[in-house]
Amino acid sequence: MECQRKYRKMMKSQQKFRVSSSKKQRKIDRNIRVVFPEPLYEAMSGSLINEEKASHECYILAQCGYKVDESKKNLTYMVKDLYIPGREDLLEQSSVTVTPKADFLEKIFSEAYENNSTIIEIHSHVDSKSPNFSWVDIDHGIDNGRFLRSCKIKFVMCVIGTEGFSIAEYDSDHDSLDLPKKAVISIMTRSGIKDVLPGETSTGSSIEISPVYDRQVLMWGKEGQERICNVCAGIVGLGGTGSVLLQMLARMGVKKFVLCDDDIIERSNLNRLPYTFNSDIGKKKIKAAQNYLKKLSKDIDTTLLNGKVQEHKEKLKGCDILFGCVDSEGARLILNEISLKYFIPYIDTGTEIFCRNADSGSNSLDMGGQVRVVIPSVTGCLECMGGIDKGKAEMDLLRPEEMNIREKTGYVNGTDITPVPSVISLNNMIASMAVQEFVDMVTGNGSRPKEYNYIKYDSVEPVLERMIFEKDPSCPMCGNGGILGAGDIKKQSRPRIKNIAGSG
Ligand SMILES: [Zn+2]
Ligand SMILES: [Zn+2]
Repeated sequence: MECQRKYRKMMKSQQKFRVSSSKKQRKIDRNIRVVFPEPLYEAMSGSLINEEKASHECYILAQCGYKVDESKKNLTYMVKDLYIPGREDLLEQSSVTVTPKADFLEKIFSEAYENNSTIIEIHSHVDSKSPNFSWVDIDHGIDNGRFLRSCKIKFVMCVIGTEGFSIAEYDSDHDSLDLPKKAVISIMTRSGIKDVLPGETSTGSSIEISPVYDRQVLMWGKEGQERICNVCAGIVGLGGTGSVLLQMLARMGVKKFVLCDDDIIERSNLNRLPYTFNSDIGKKKIKAAQNYLKKLSKDIDTTLLNGKVQEHKEKLKGCDILFGCVDSEGARLILNEISLKYFIPYIDTGTEIFCRNADSGSNSLDMGGQVRVVIPSVTGCLECMGGIDKGKAEMDLLRPEEMNIREKTGYVNGTDITPVPSVISLNNMIASMAVQEFVDMVTGNGSRPKEYNYIKYDSVEPVLERMIFEKDPSCPMCGNGGILGAGDIKKQSRPRIKNIAGSG
């Protein structure tokens, strides 16, 4: 194939590009996190950093998406796939070197090109548990970086050991390998994201824990409390469930919130929104929530997103966890998408109250609700759970002008907003269960591993039902060919590689 020819040609001509290795490395002000789904990390450790394999260098390629925050200083790579070469895929392998065959690389580079993915090349060193790049690595990294850049593929190189690793990104502007200030490898597990391996220059951060949390520290220790204090929680929807959930998280010590809602406080909200008072009627829900948080603690930092969730994907992708407290299927669809694309755990809540025979004067009520936890790449997503009503979602996501057209042409029935029953006791129950899932995830408290990701509450018995939904390979969202770990770049926006590699 063209790409292969191009790669081999590059390998032959690479000598003429050689410059002094010391000029090829730059230390830059950037933090990198590489997130592996737990099964992929285990596969990698098994074949790369296993003590038994310590007699020769090993080699693996990873295909990733990435996200950059607004400051451009924090970069996260989400590992989508790993390629572990067999013995037949290697040209040479010894205690000082490992070289894969060109056709092994060609296949993976083509795939990365088509998926708009970044390539992370990972290898091990025999003599080091926390290795640094050798001069040979640097030269090789620059060669690969240049080649992949010519195919419009981003290239990252990593050398890994049992106790640490080094990582560098190819920078085409400087023709250099850029070393970050801090780096960490994390894994996405059934119970959330855990840091497993520090980069060579990482230092543990420590914050002072206020005596406010003394009783919690007794439960999950200083470390657990520190983790809670360091979380950035995104809450979409500040109605009945979202408001209670916000209050609980803030009291527990969460210091950073991203709040998204477009609604205004009405008198009929005062029965259930704990942050609202008479004087708040007519105010934006996000604004009243922020005022409440300010009163509670001066250290709480809130970002307010006024509007619908689909208008604020960029801000929400920076959160460590997402809470969906919405009654819109469209919002659920978007939250599920952000969660999967950027590897952000997502806790969805929902409540429902049916009044049976309300007209006949009977006050028989059926109440219920559910908490659904999506751990991208590990559990099933909301779609796998059959948890999104696609028809409703489509309607929810219509722009106002499209909605008008549909109404006029008779495609929308019953668009009048009819108030539905809502009561703080039910909202609190569902919010409490969601917050407990969050606490287990962040502190490592609770049962391990989690044997459910769906809790259903029914008030009639009353009963709690626990269910588990695994990842469905045919799921259009998180299955093969879906958007899992896709990150900032849209999928399938490129022609096939043979069309552009023709010049090689
Ligand atoms: Zn090396
Ligand atoms: Zn799915």
